Amino acid sequence: MPLHIDVLTLFPRMLEGFLSESILGKGIESGLLTVKVHDVRDWATSKHKNADDRPFGGGAGMVMKPEPVFAAIEQLQTPGCRRIYLTPDGTPYSEKLARELAQVTHLVLLSGHYEGIDQRIREKVIDQEISIGDYVLTNGTLPAAVIIDALARFIPGVLGEEKSLTHESFTGKLLDFPQYTRPAEFRGMSVPDVLLSGDHAKIEQWRNDRRIEKTRQVRPDLLN
Ligand code: SAM
Repeated sequence: MPLHIDVLTLFPRMLEGFLSESILGKGIESGLLTVKVHDVRDWATSKHKNADDRPFGGGAGMVMKPEPVFAAIEQLQTPGCRRIYLTPDGTPYSEKLARELAQVTHLVLLSGHYEGIDQRIREKVIDQEISIGDYVLTNGTLPAAVIIDALARFIPGVLGEEKSLTHESFTGKLLDFPQYTRPAEFRGMSVPDVLLSGDHAKIEQWRNDRRIEKTRQVRPDLLN
């Protein structure tokens, strides 16, 4: 059964272009995964369709209210689905987690807005909390897009050429090697001779050396 993803946000239009373009757009068009974006306000029952309110205890900003979010998740959830809240204080997203999520058949991704969401939502209708990095964004819609994009690459058929996953950064413990294409000479800069040699063993060795060099330079933590 192809993976189905429901995204709950206050800004559904932010995802329109993202879901229809490029590799992900083609994957969705081919039915390899399905994504439905919902406006949380559709579950708000107040006259003005409010989905947020002031925080108890005072302080700046607004907090997303529990009623519409509980109603939305309770309507969308299915047995065995994983309900995820995107939040800067969640578990860091990684290639390993993306691979794991690609195995699930139904995900519900909740984007927070303003100061975040009522804690009772996190305690009762959320299974997992994920952060996409140590910085704070204005809302969780882009993080939801990041989650979908990274996991979609692990759904068979989405990348077309499965081989392209094998040498990527983070697939093992090493970052990727430098890539070159035509022309071999550009503004006085030449492509390394080894890549033009046709000697596949040497090319493999050169690429591996560059991966180690790059990882040592920018992400020595991955080598430890
Ligand atoms: N008050 C929250 C805090 O300090 O942890 C930040 C709220 S943030 C302004 C609004 C929403 O953006 C969050 O509820 C979350 O859904 C989303 N968000 C912001 N940064 C994020 C990140 N690094 N990873 C995942 N979601 C993020």
